Amino acid sequence: MPSEGRRTLSAATRSAPDNRFLAALDAEDFAVLEPHLEALVLPCGTVLYEPGDPISYTYFPHDAIVSLVDVMEDGRLAEVAMFGREGLFGLLSAFVSREAFGRYVVQIPGSASRVPLDAMHAAIQAHPALQRQVLAYNEALLAQAYHTVACNAVHPVEARCCRWLLSTHDRLDQDTLPHTHEFLAEMLGVQRSTVSTVLRSLQTSRLIEQQRGGINVLDRAGLEHAACECYRKIRFRFDRLLPGTFAQVDRTASATSTPPGLKAAAKQFFISRGAASISSSTDHCSSSALGRAPRRPESVPCARL
Ligand SMILES: [Zn+2]
Repeated sequence: MPSEGRRTLSAATRSAPDNRFLAALDAEDFAVLEPHLEALVLPCGTVLYEPGDPISYTYFPHDAIVSLVDVMEDGRLAEVAMFGREGLFGLLSAFVSREAFGRYVVQIPGSASRVPLDAMHAAIQAHPALQRQVLAYNEALLAQAYHTVACNAVHPVEARCCRWLLSTHDRLDQDTLPHTHEFLAEMLGVQRSTVSTVLRSLQTSRLIEQQRGGINVLDRAGLEHAACECYRKIRFRFDRLLPGTFAQVDRTASATSTPPGLKAAAKQFFISRGAASISSSTDHCSSSALGRAPRRPESVPCARL
């Protein structure tokens, strides 16, 4: 990324980031990746890869959330997978073809780290423990996509909406999800009016509250009860394959604290290392970011949609 697109993060942002996949690595494996890690800010709406794009980096979100969406020929969209601090993207589809499956778009702005794909491949080949963890994550990711596809086909939009709100809530340290009805409609592949009806119903039930800045989760347990089984199935796979790397359900307990597996080297890296930025923006998605022209940090510095 050209240097003019970089910008040091604020101290508050610099002290917070973490990625639980990296944090769960043994010190030796993390030391292999550390020289290659580049810290970034991912502005809302940034398209990191379009379908068929060559993949150059593996990304490890900290507090950013990225969605993989399938783009139809008529422009309609549907989310296939979500990536946050529990994992990584830009690797599973890059083992052979090195091409992106779909559009990778930032739905929640925040920080992340990335590693050049060649360095990632070399590290995986040379370090069996890292390779096992990557394979475990890939299996969990495939399970997420598997359940999401089935969910989109058979479950009512109300239950799917609850699943999506919970999945986003899992990856944030706040109860307000900064999303518009339009954005949520694109994620779920339904009309905006449908989302408005569903959210009104959830608000009437006091599960959420719609605010100027987004959707506030009032009753997480109630949302889990209202969600379809797919949310629990996806959580089960992550908890089984990658213990401690997925978000904790009890936000008041340890969800926002450093996970037990966090290694000192990884923690120190994120505290001491400044993050490059592809934009100074940390705006929330306020409109239909997914349908806009793509911007790629590798080729377009200061991407801003
Ligand atoms: Zn479902």
